[in-house]
Amino acid sequence: MPKSNRKKSSPIIVARTVALARAKRRKPSGTTVVMLGTGMPRPDPECFGPATAVVYDGRVFLFDAGSGVVRRMAAAGLSVRGPEATFITHLHSDHTLGYPDLILTTWVMGRRTPLQAYGPVGLKKMTKHILAAWDEDIHVRIEGLEHQTTTGYKVAVHEFDVSDASGGVVYEKDGVRITAIPVIHGCWKQAYGFRIDTPDRSIVISGDTVPTNTILESSRGVDVLVHEVYPESQVAPEVRIGGKTWPSYMREFHTSDIELGLLAAEAQPKLLVLHHIVRHEEDDDELLESIRDAGFEGEVVVAKDLDRF
Ligand SMILES: [Zn+2]
Ligand SMILES: [Zn+2]
Repeated sequence: MPKSNRKKSSPIIVARTVALARAKRRKPSGTTVVMLGTGMPRPDPECFGPATAVVYDGRVFLFDAGSGVVRRMAAAGLSVRGPEATFITHLHSDHTLGYPDLILTTWVMGRRTPLQAYGPVGLKKMTKHILAAWDEDIHVRIEGLEHQTTTGYKVAVHEFDVSDASGGVVYEKDGVRITAIPVIHGCWKQAYGFRIDTPDRSIVISGDTVPTNTILESSRGVDVLVHEVYPESQVAPEVRIGGKTWPSYMREFHTSDIELGLLAAEAQPKLLVLHHIVRHEEDDDELLESIRDAGFEGEVVVAKDLDRF
């Protein structure tokens, strides 16, 4: 990735870039990215757990199922009977706390066919345990006066293990192709980003990861790159449980604003969307400025929940 010799962006340029991006995001056309939850583990009331929908021709594809996912789908006007397919990047709790909600609430709201869930090895086990944990609920809703269907709580889990660095297509149907991109997320054995290709747009969602060549190569020239990020300026040891190793954790599990700026400068996505920002005290402008200082001159925006791109 090229080193940047770019001067610091002025606050006016940053503000103009943000304003431009905000204006554009109001009128998405064709395939749309809906930021259902832009948060991370900290329970920020404004940022629900990680979940992103890609909507093409009325079909909904869901990426991760963080806390509050079904309520956010309702808020975004998406069907509460569930998406066409769900894709889980990795099994960290912040990305899967809404998975029981997704399974059970969509059933209660009328889903009749098995939820289609794609994800890393371990998703089958997680699903089995979730259904076991709620087996009394399932029994009462079917046998009692609610007369729920005996099919709609079920989940068809499609586990994959894509170790090939070029990734692999995990879903292809009626013009939508979804490719799993192996990423590096500390000691997780499997973690993925996804590339979504529809007839009119290409989108990459990074998942949780350090900067990787796999994401770089998959996102060259894409319409939208949705990437996690943390502000390098805030990484220092802290006085709390796990605080001593906080900087090492961040470097081995996540991507800094400087690293993302370098990656984006090389990949040149048409729009870079930041979400899952680890640590939120950081001023948005400072984060955007770091990305620009690292060399990315394209359009970049900090996502808020329910934004559309
Ligand atoms: Zn996460
Ligand atoms: Zn994670």
